[in-house]
Amino acid sequence: MTSAASSAAPAVSFEFFPPKTEKMEQSLWQAIERLAPLRPAFVSVTYGAGGSTRERTHATVCRIQKETGIPAAAHFTCVGATREEIDSIARTYWEAGIRHLVALRGDPPESAGGIGGRYEPHPGGYAYAADLVAGMREVADFEISVAAYPETHPEAPSAQFDLDNLKRKVDAGATRAITQFFFDNDAYFRFLDRCAAAGIHVPIVPGILPITNFARAVEFAGKCNASVPQKLADTFDGLDSDPETRHLVAATVAAEQCQALQAQGVNDFHFYTLNRADLTVAICRMLGVKAKAAAPSPAPAA
Ligand code: FAD
Repeated sequence: MTSAASSAAPAVSFEFFPPKTEKMEQSLWQAIERLAPLRPAFVSVTYGAGGSTRERTHATVCRIQKETGIPAAAHFTCVGATREEIDSIARTYWEAGIRHLVALRGDPPESAGGIGGRYEPHPGGYAYAADLVAGMREVADFEISVAAYPETHPEAPSAQFDLDNLKRKVDAGATRAITQFFFDNDAYFRFLDRCAAAGIHVPIVPGILPITNFARAVEFAGKCNASVPQKLADTFDGLDSDPETRHLVAATVAAEQCQALQAQGVNDFHFYTLNRADLTVAICRMLGVKAKAAAPSPAPAA
């Protein structure tokens, strides 16, 4: 897919994780206060491995939507729960006014090795994300997003199997895919072409990871099957003890990646914010997404 570049400011969405402590809660809300004026299409809140953040995810999603008015999506996984339990959690979201779910298989719990560990479907649970999407469709008329992997999910037996799996998720009712983060735009564009050829026609929104810690990003990329171009490694080389330069470089690198995508017609971006606003705000500005001014207060009566 390489449609003409659009001059309209892109639609953006922001992903957060549920805070564990009071201090983390404060930094999340500081981030939300800076990001909310950018008027994202939606925000989403992750679900900890093995369902470990069920209540915190619920509380965070509901609070963000209530206090900012921005549609908030709850991530949801198949791990560690029966279908009845998952359906009942979904119903509580619907009753709380949450209309968008990000339906995932989920990573194995830490006890089973976490990311890259061995996944065992829960007996009586939804086995894979496609099953979860179909189940959520039965619960209520949710908007459902799913995960996609431009460089193939690490456990997939083949790239074709993984593509067929994405098609199953869309056929089951997903209306948007959000990609695993990637640094190689060509891999994303090749993936879009393969999706189109496979008859997958929902938006495949690129997931963008602004790099706050390069060593950790490389480690995570290894687990997720995201390649790290040598040029990127060279750019961050030697900056471990220079956080200020690293930060400027991180903003530039991610903005360049997004601008290159935008130049090829991409007009939706999902940011893995890691609950920090600064890099995402800077990158959004480079893409033409600026804070919307608050409505002027009425003039005082004479
Ligand atoms: P699936 O689509 O079910 O696929 C998982 C693997 O199983 C793939 O390799 C697929 O090819 C294979 N597969 C599918 N169906 C079958 C079958 N019938 N038989 C055999 N193999 C099959 N994880 C969390 O724990 N919490 C989160 O909040 C979270 N948010 C995420 C958000 C995004 C945007 C992304 C990209 C990932 C997120 N993850 C999250 C990580 C995700 O849970 C993992 O990548 C997980 O390993 C796969 O989830 P999935 O929904 O892609 O699974």
